Amino acid sequence: MQNLTVLGTGVLGSQIIFQSAYAGKDVVAYDLSDEILAKLADRWEYLKAAYLRDLPDATPEKLDAAVARIRTSADLADAVKDADIVIEAVPERLDIKQQTWEDVAKVAPETTVFCTNSSTLLPSDIAPFTGRPEKFLALHFANEVWKFNTGEVMGHAGTDPQVFEQVAQFAEEIGMVPIRVRKEQPGYVLNSLLVPFLNAGAALFVKGVASPEDIDRTWKIATGAPSGPFEIFDVVGMMTPYNLGMSSSDPVQQEFAEILKRDYIDKGYLGKGSGRGFYTYE
Ligand code: NAD
Repeated sequence: MQNLTVLGTGVLGSQIIFQSAYAGKDVVAYDLSDEILAKLADRWEYLKAAYLRDLPDATPEKLDAAVARIRTSADLADAVKDADIVIEAVPERLDIKQQTWEDVAKVAPETTVFCTNSSTLLPSDIAPFTGRPEKFLALHFANEVWKFNTGEVMGHAGTDPQVFEQVAQFAEEIGMVPIRVRKEQPGYVLNSLLVPFLNAGAALFVKGVASPEDIDRTWKIATGAPSGPFEIFDVVGMMTPYNLGMSSSDPVQQEFAEILKRDYIDKGYLGKGSGRGFYTYE
């Protein structure tokens, strides 16, 4: 699978595009308008700097060659006409995903494999809208794909096992470590582990059992892990745990969301990206 089209060029879509081009794939970046696509030039500069900083074998020449392998298009039929594989990274809303796949199904070649990067929706929720459920599955990336390079491959009951393997192979070709998720599971492997872990840290803090610093310190010293839950909250940013806490039925998680709003979000402490969260950053 040499020709990739990515639908949606936001946080994750842009990373998938750049990483795949860096690995030698020919990539078409699709988004709703040319104005949105024009912003990608700045995004490539940001990603080039990150690759040079984080990857010892990255060179300016390799990074320029990656950008040269990317074409943009705001015309869906044009964007997918040569695609061997389409990866969708549009906003995390079922109605938008379903509509997007209905539209793609009308114009993509019959042989094209379809993948969603959805974090919380299940492939079986979307498959009926793709016109080719046997060729539809999830390929889920983690934020900062060039260094946190898991590619969780997860089908639904009707996904063709050969297509599943093809996508796992593709994930490897673009520098991911393919994780074969053998059953549909909300949160895949990663978030099935991470979310309960973060909730447990939050509960210790809300109940006044220990400070964020001591909770992180305990976890790091006793297990050798590089980060504790509150350092991870800072990287994720406060808005995601806030939204999850507000929609939780657990009163402890709701209280955590209220603390996040009052003591952090309302003061502009949004996490590492803003220079301050539970910790202060340079
Ligand atoms: P984002 O909001 O940064 O980007 C979404 C992009 O989709 C925007 O460029 C927007 O213009 C475009 N878009 C909107 N409607 C569209 C449509 N109908 N057709 C094509 N493009 C459209 O979102 P994101 O954070 O990149 O998330 C995208 C997907 O990736 C979601 O499913 C999310 O669950 C998943 N994901 C996100 C992360 C993360 O850390 N942000 C990690 C893993 C997976």
